[in-house]
Amino acid sequence: MSESVKVFAPGSVSNVGCGFDILGFAIDGVGDEMVVSKNDKKKIVIAPVNGYENLPTDPKKNVAGVAIQALLDDLKSNQGFDVEIVKNIKPGSGIGSSAASAAGAVVAVNELLGNPYSRMELVDFAMKGEEVASGDVHADNAAPATLGGFCLIRGYNPLDVIHIQPPKDLWCVVIHPQIEIKTKESRELLSPEVSMKKAIRQWGNVAGLMSGLYTSNYELIGRSLEDHIVEPQRKVLIPEFDELKLSVMEAGALGCSISGSGPSVFALAEGKDSADVIATAMDTAYRKTELDYKIYVSKVSDGGVRVL
Ligand code: ADP
Repeated sequence: MSESVKVFAPGSVSNVGCGFDILGFAIDGVGDEMVVSKNDKKKIVIAPVNGYENLPTDPKKNVAGVAIQALLDDLKSNQGFDVEIVKNIKPGSGIGSSAASAAGAVVAVNELLGNPYSRMELVDFAMKGEEVASGDVHADNAAPATLGGFCLIRGYNPLDVIHIQPPKDLWCVVIHPQIEIKTKESRELLSPEVSMKKAIRQWGNVAGLMSGLYTSNYELIGRSLEDHIVEPQRKVLIPEFDELKLSVMEAGALGCSISGSGPSVFALAEGKDSADVIATAMDTAYRKTELDYKIYVSKVSDGGVRVL
């Protein structure tokens, strides 16, 4: 059995318009790399993350450490591990930076221990890691980062994740304004009440989106990517959100909304050519702002963490 393993851990888009807190998908074009090695110290040692000196190295505070510990506790193992994280997804991006670390860590450790757990079982540990980042249990980034594709989190008691293969030609474009929005702060903006009228529209869209994904009906996917509840409350956090969304839709996007808790914004497209046109529209719209930003074009990933 090898003593060290390198993994690619993908970013992910959670909420996906209408699916607040229950839906996410993995994006292959952007992600972290991690090297995890066994050590003889019987403890988890996390190396300082280059470029992100304020990310915690305490294994009780870094999501990678907490996720690994959850797995080891379940196995009743005291094996130690060294963890190196090369971070390509800025924390607080809304594209699952912490979930990538949590998912990458548990897939790597599982591999080093001879794969005692299935990918689906690993989601639970990755999710426990995520808890230290957002203060609450959420699997809508951790599940797609671990499993790939779309993941519907039907419930938590017990964790019930439904994995959906993405339609073959489904692409996403993500713009990441280089400002940080903490998930915790973005949640505090949300009203705890939802009107029955809005809830009914949202249920219709979630069901439509699921049906569109299973039948590769791109037009239905697009029609269903509406969020009447969360997007209107959160969009104030994202500079020029309305203008950006308008140009993205005019450029032919199936739909467009906030990625996770922002500031990233995603659009879905049928095919790479359409995704490229949307990326150009995003660039043109955002060039007018004073902000730095990054744009990623990627097929919706059908695999999660990859062992390299
Ligand atoms: P994101 O959606 O980018 O993961 P969150 O606000 O959910 O954003 O998580 C970022 C928070 O998680 C930051 O406060 C960061 O310090 C903390 N964190 C702990 N470990 C990690 C890690 N390995 N990678 C990224 N963020 C981490």
